[in-house]
Amino acid sequence: MILDMFSLEHKTAVVTGANTGLGQGFCIAFAQAGATVIGVARRSMQETREKVESVGGAFKEIIVDLSSPDAISVIMEQCEKLCDRVDILVNNAGIIHREDAKDVSEADWDKVILLNERLVFFLSQAMANRYFLPNRSGKIINIASMLSFQGGIRVPAYAASKSAVMGITKALANEWAPYQVNVNAIAPGYMATNNTTNLRSDAQRSEAILERIPAGRWGTPDDIMGAGIYLASKASDYVNGFTLAVDGGWLAR
Ligand code: NAD
Repeated sequence: MILDMFSLEHKTAVVTGANTGLGQGFCIAFAQAGATVIGVARRSMQETREKVESVGGAFKEIIVDLSSPDAISVIMEQCEKLCDRVDILVNNAGIIHREDAKDVSEADWDKVILLNERLVFFLSQAMANRYFLPNRSGKIINIASMLSFQGGIRVPAYAASKSAVMGITKALANEWAPYQVNVNAIAPGYMATNNTTNLRSDAQRSEAILERIPAGRWGTPDDIMGAGIYLASKASDYVNGFTLAVDGGWLAR
């Protein structure tokens, strides 16, 4: 049956930045679809655990600062202990730094690029070498942004990193599609999460953004769940290197 193609039964998903916002939304969605979820974050993910368990899901956690030099080796070592294999990776963790381009320091630029861009590539590489390529099966979902398509205002490092996410998605898809590894991305529109707290508290910018969203509202973590399940499941087996916007029509305008 067609809905069986969307099932994630017997799959294990690793989601970075799983304690809040969109990452938490992916964890809940994957659990509802039958996957075991391994959340990665800097601190305990109690709220996510409770939400996953309340829908009957299994939740495991890896606590690590993704900006630390040993983050990838910690994740890979912990995965060996927590599961037999990883089937799905969601590169969701990300940071944003708002400042006029003329004032951005090299240190602030590097922080954003390290987490949003470098980690996306090297964690994907580590997971692919250990699980996806040898298993001839895997799903990588990178979290892009409207600023993979546009320049944004006062967030140059973020725009650079999210443009890179779209490029990495295509580059990896080209190399790994022959191994039945699907690499795709989701570009969320303007979502009401911690990432946009400052933006939403700026009355002028907030109003301008809302006025431009055809759907007439900010998105929520619930809005990305369907796209997440699609790209994590068999239903997307012939989708490679694509960045799917979930944006209330923002890019159409
Ligand atoms: P968020 O700030 O709630 O989530 C970011 C997550 O990354 C958090 O869970 C945070 O703990 C984690 N994180 C950040 N630095 C980390 C570190 N050093 N180590 C471990 N974890 C770290 O905001 P969100 O909106 O849920 O963001 C999730 C993703 O979606 C990000 O990549 C963001 O850029 C992207 N995104 C968000 C929007 C939006 O409008 N909210 C739009 C487009 C893209």
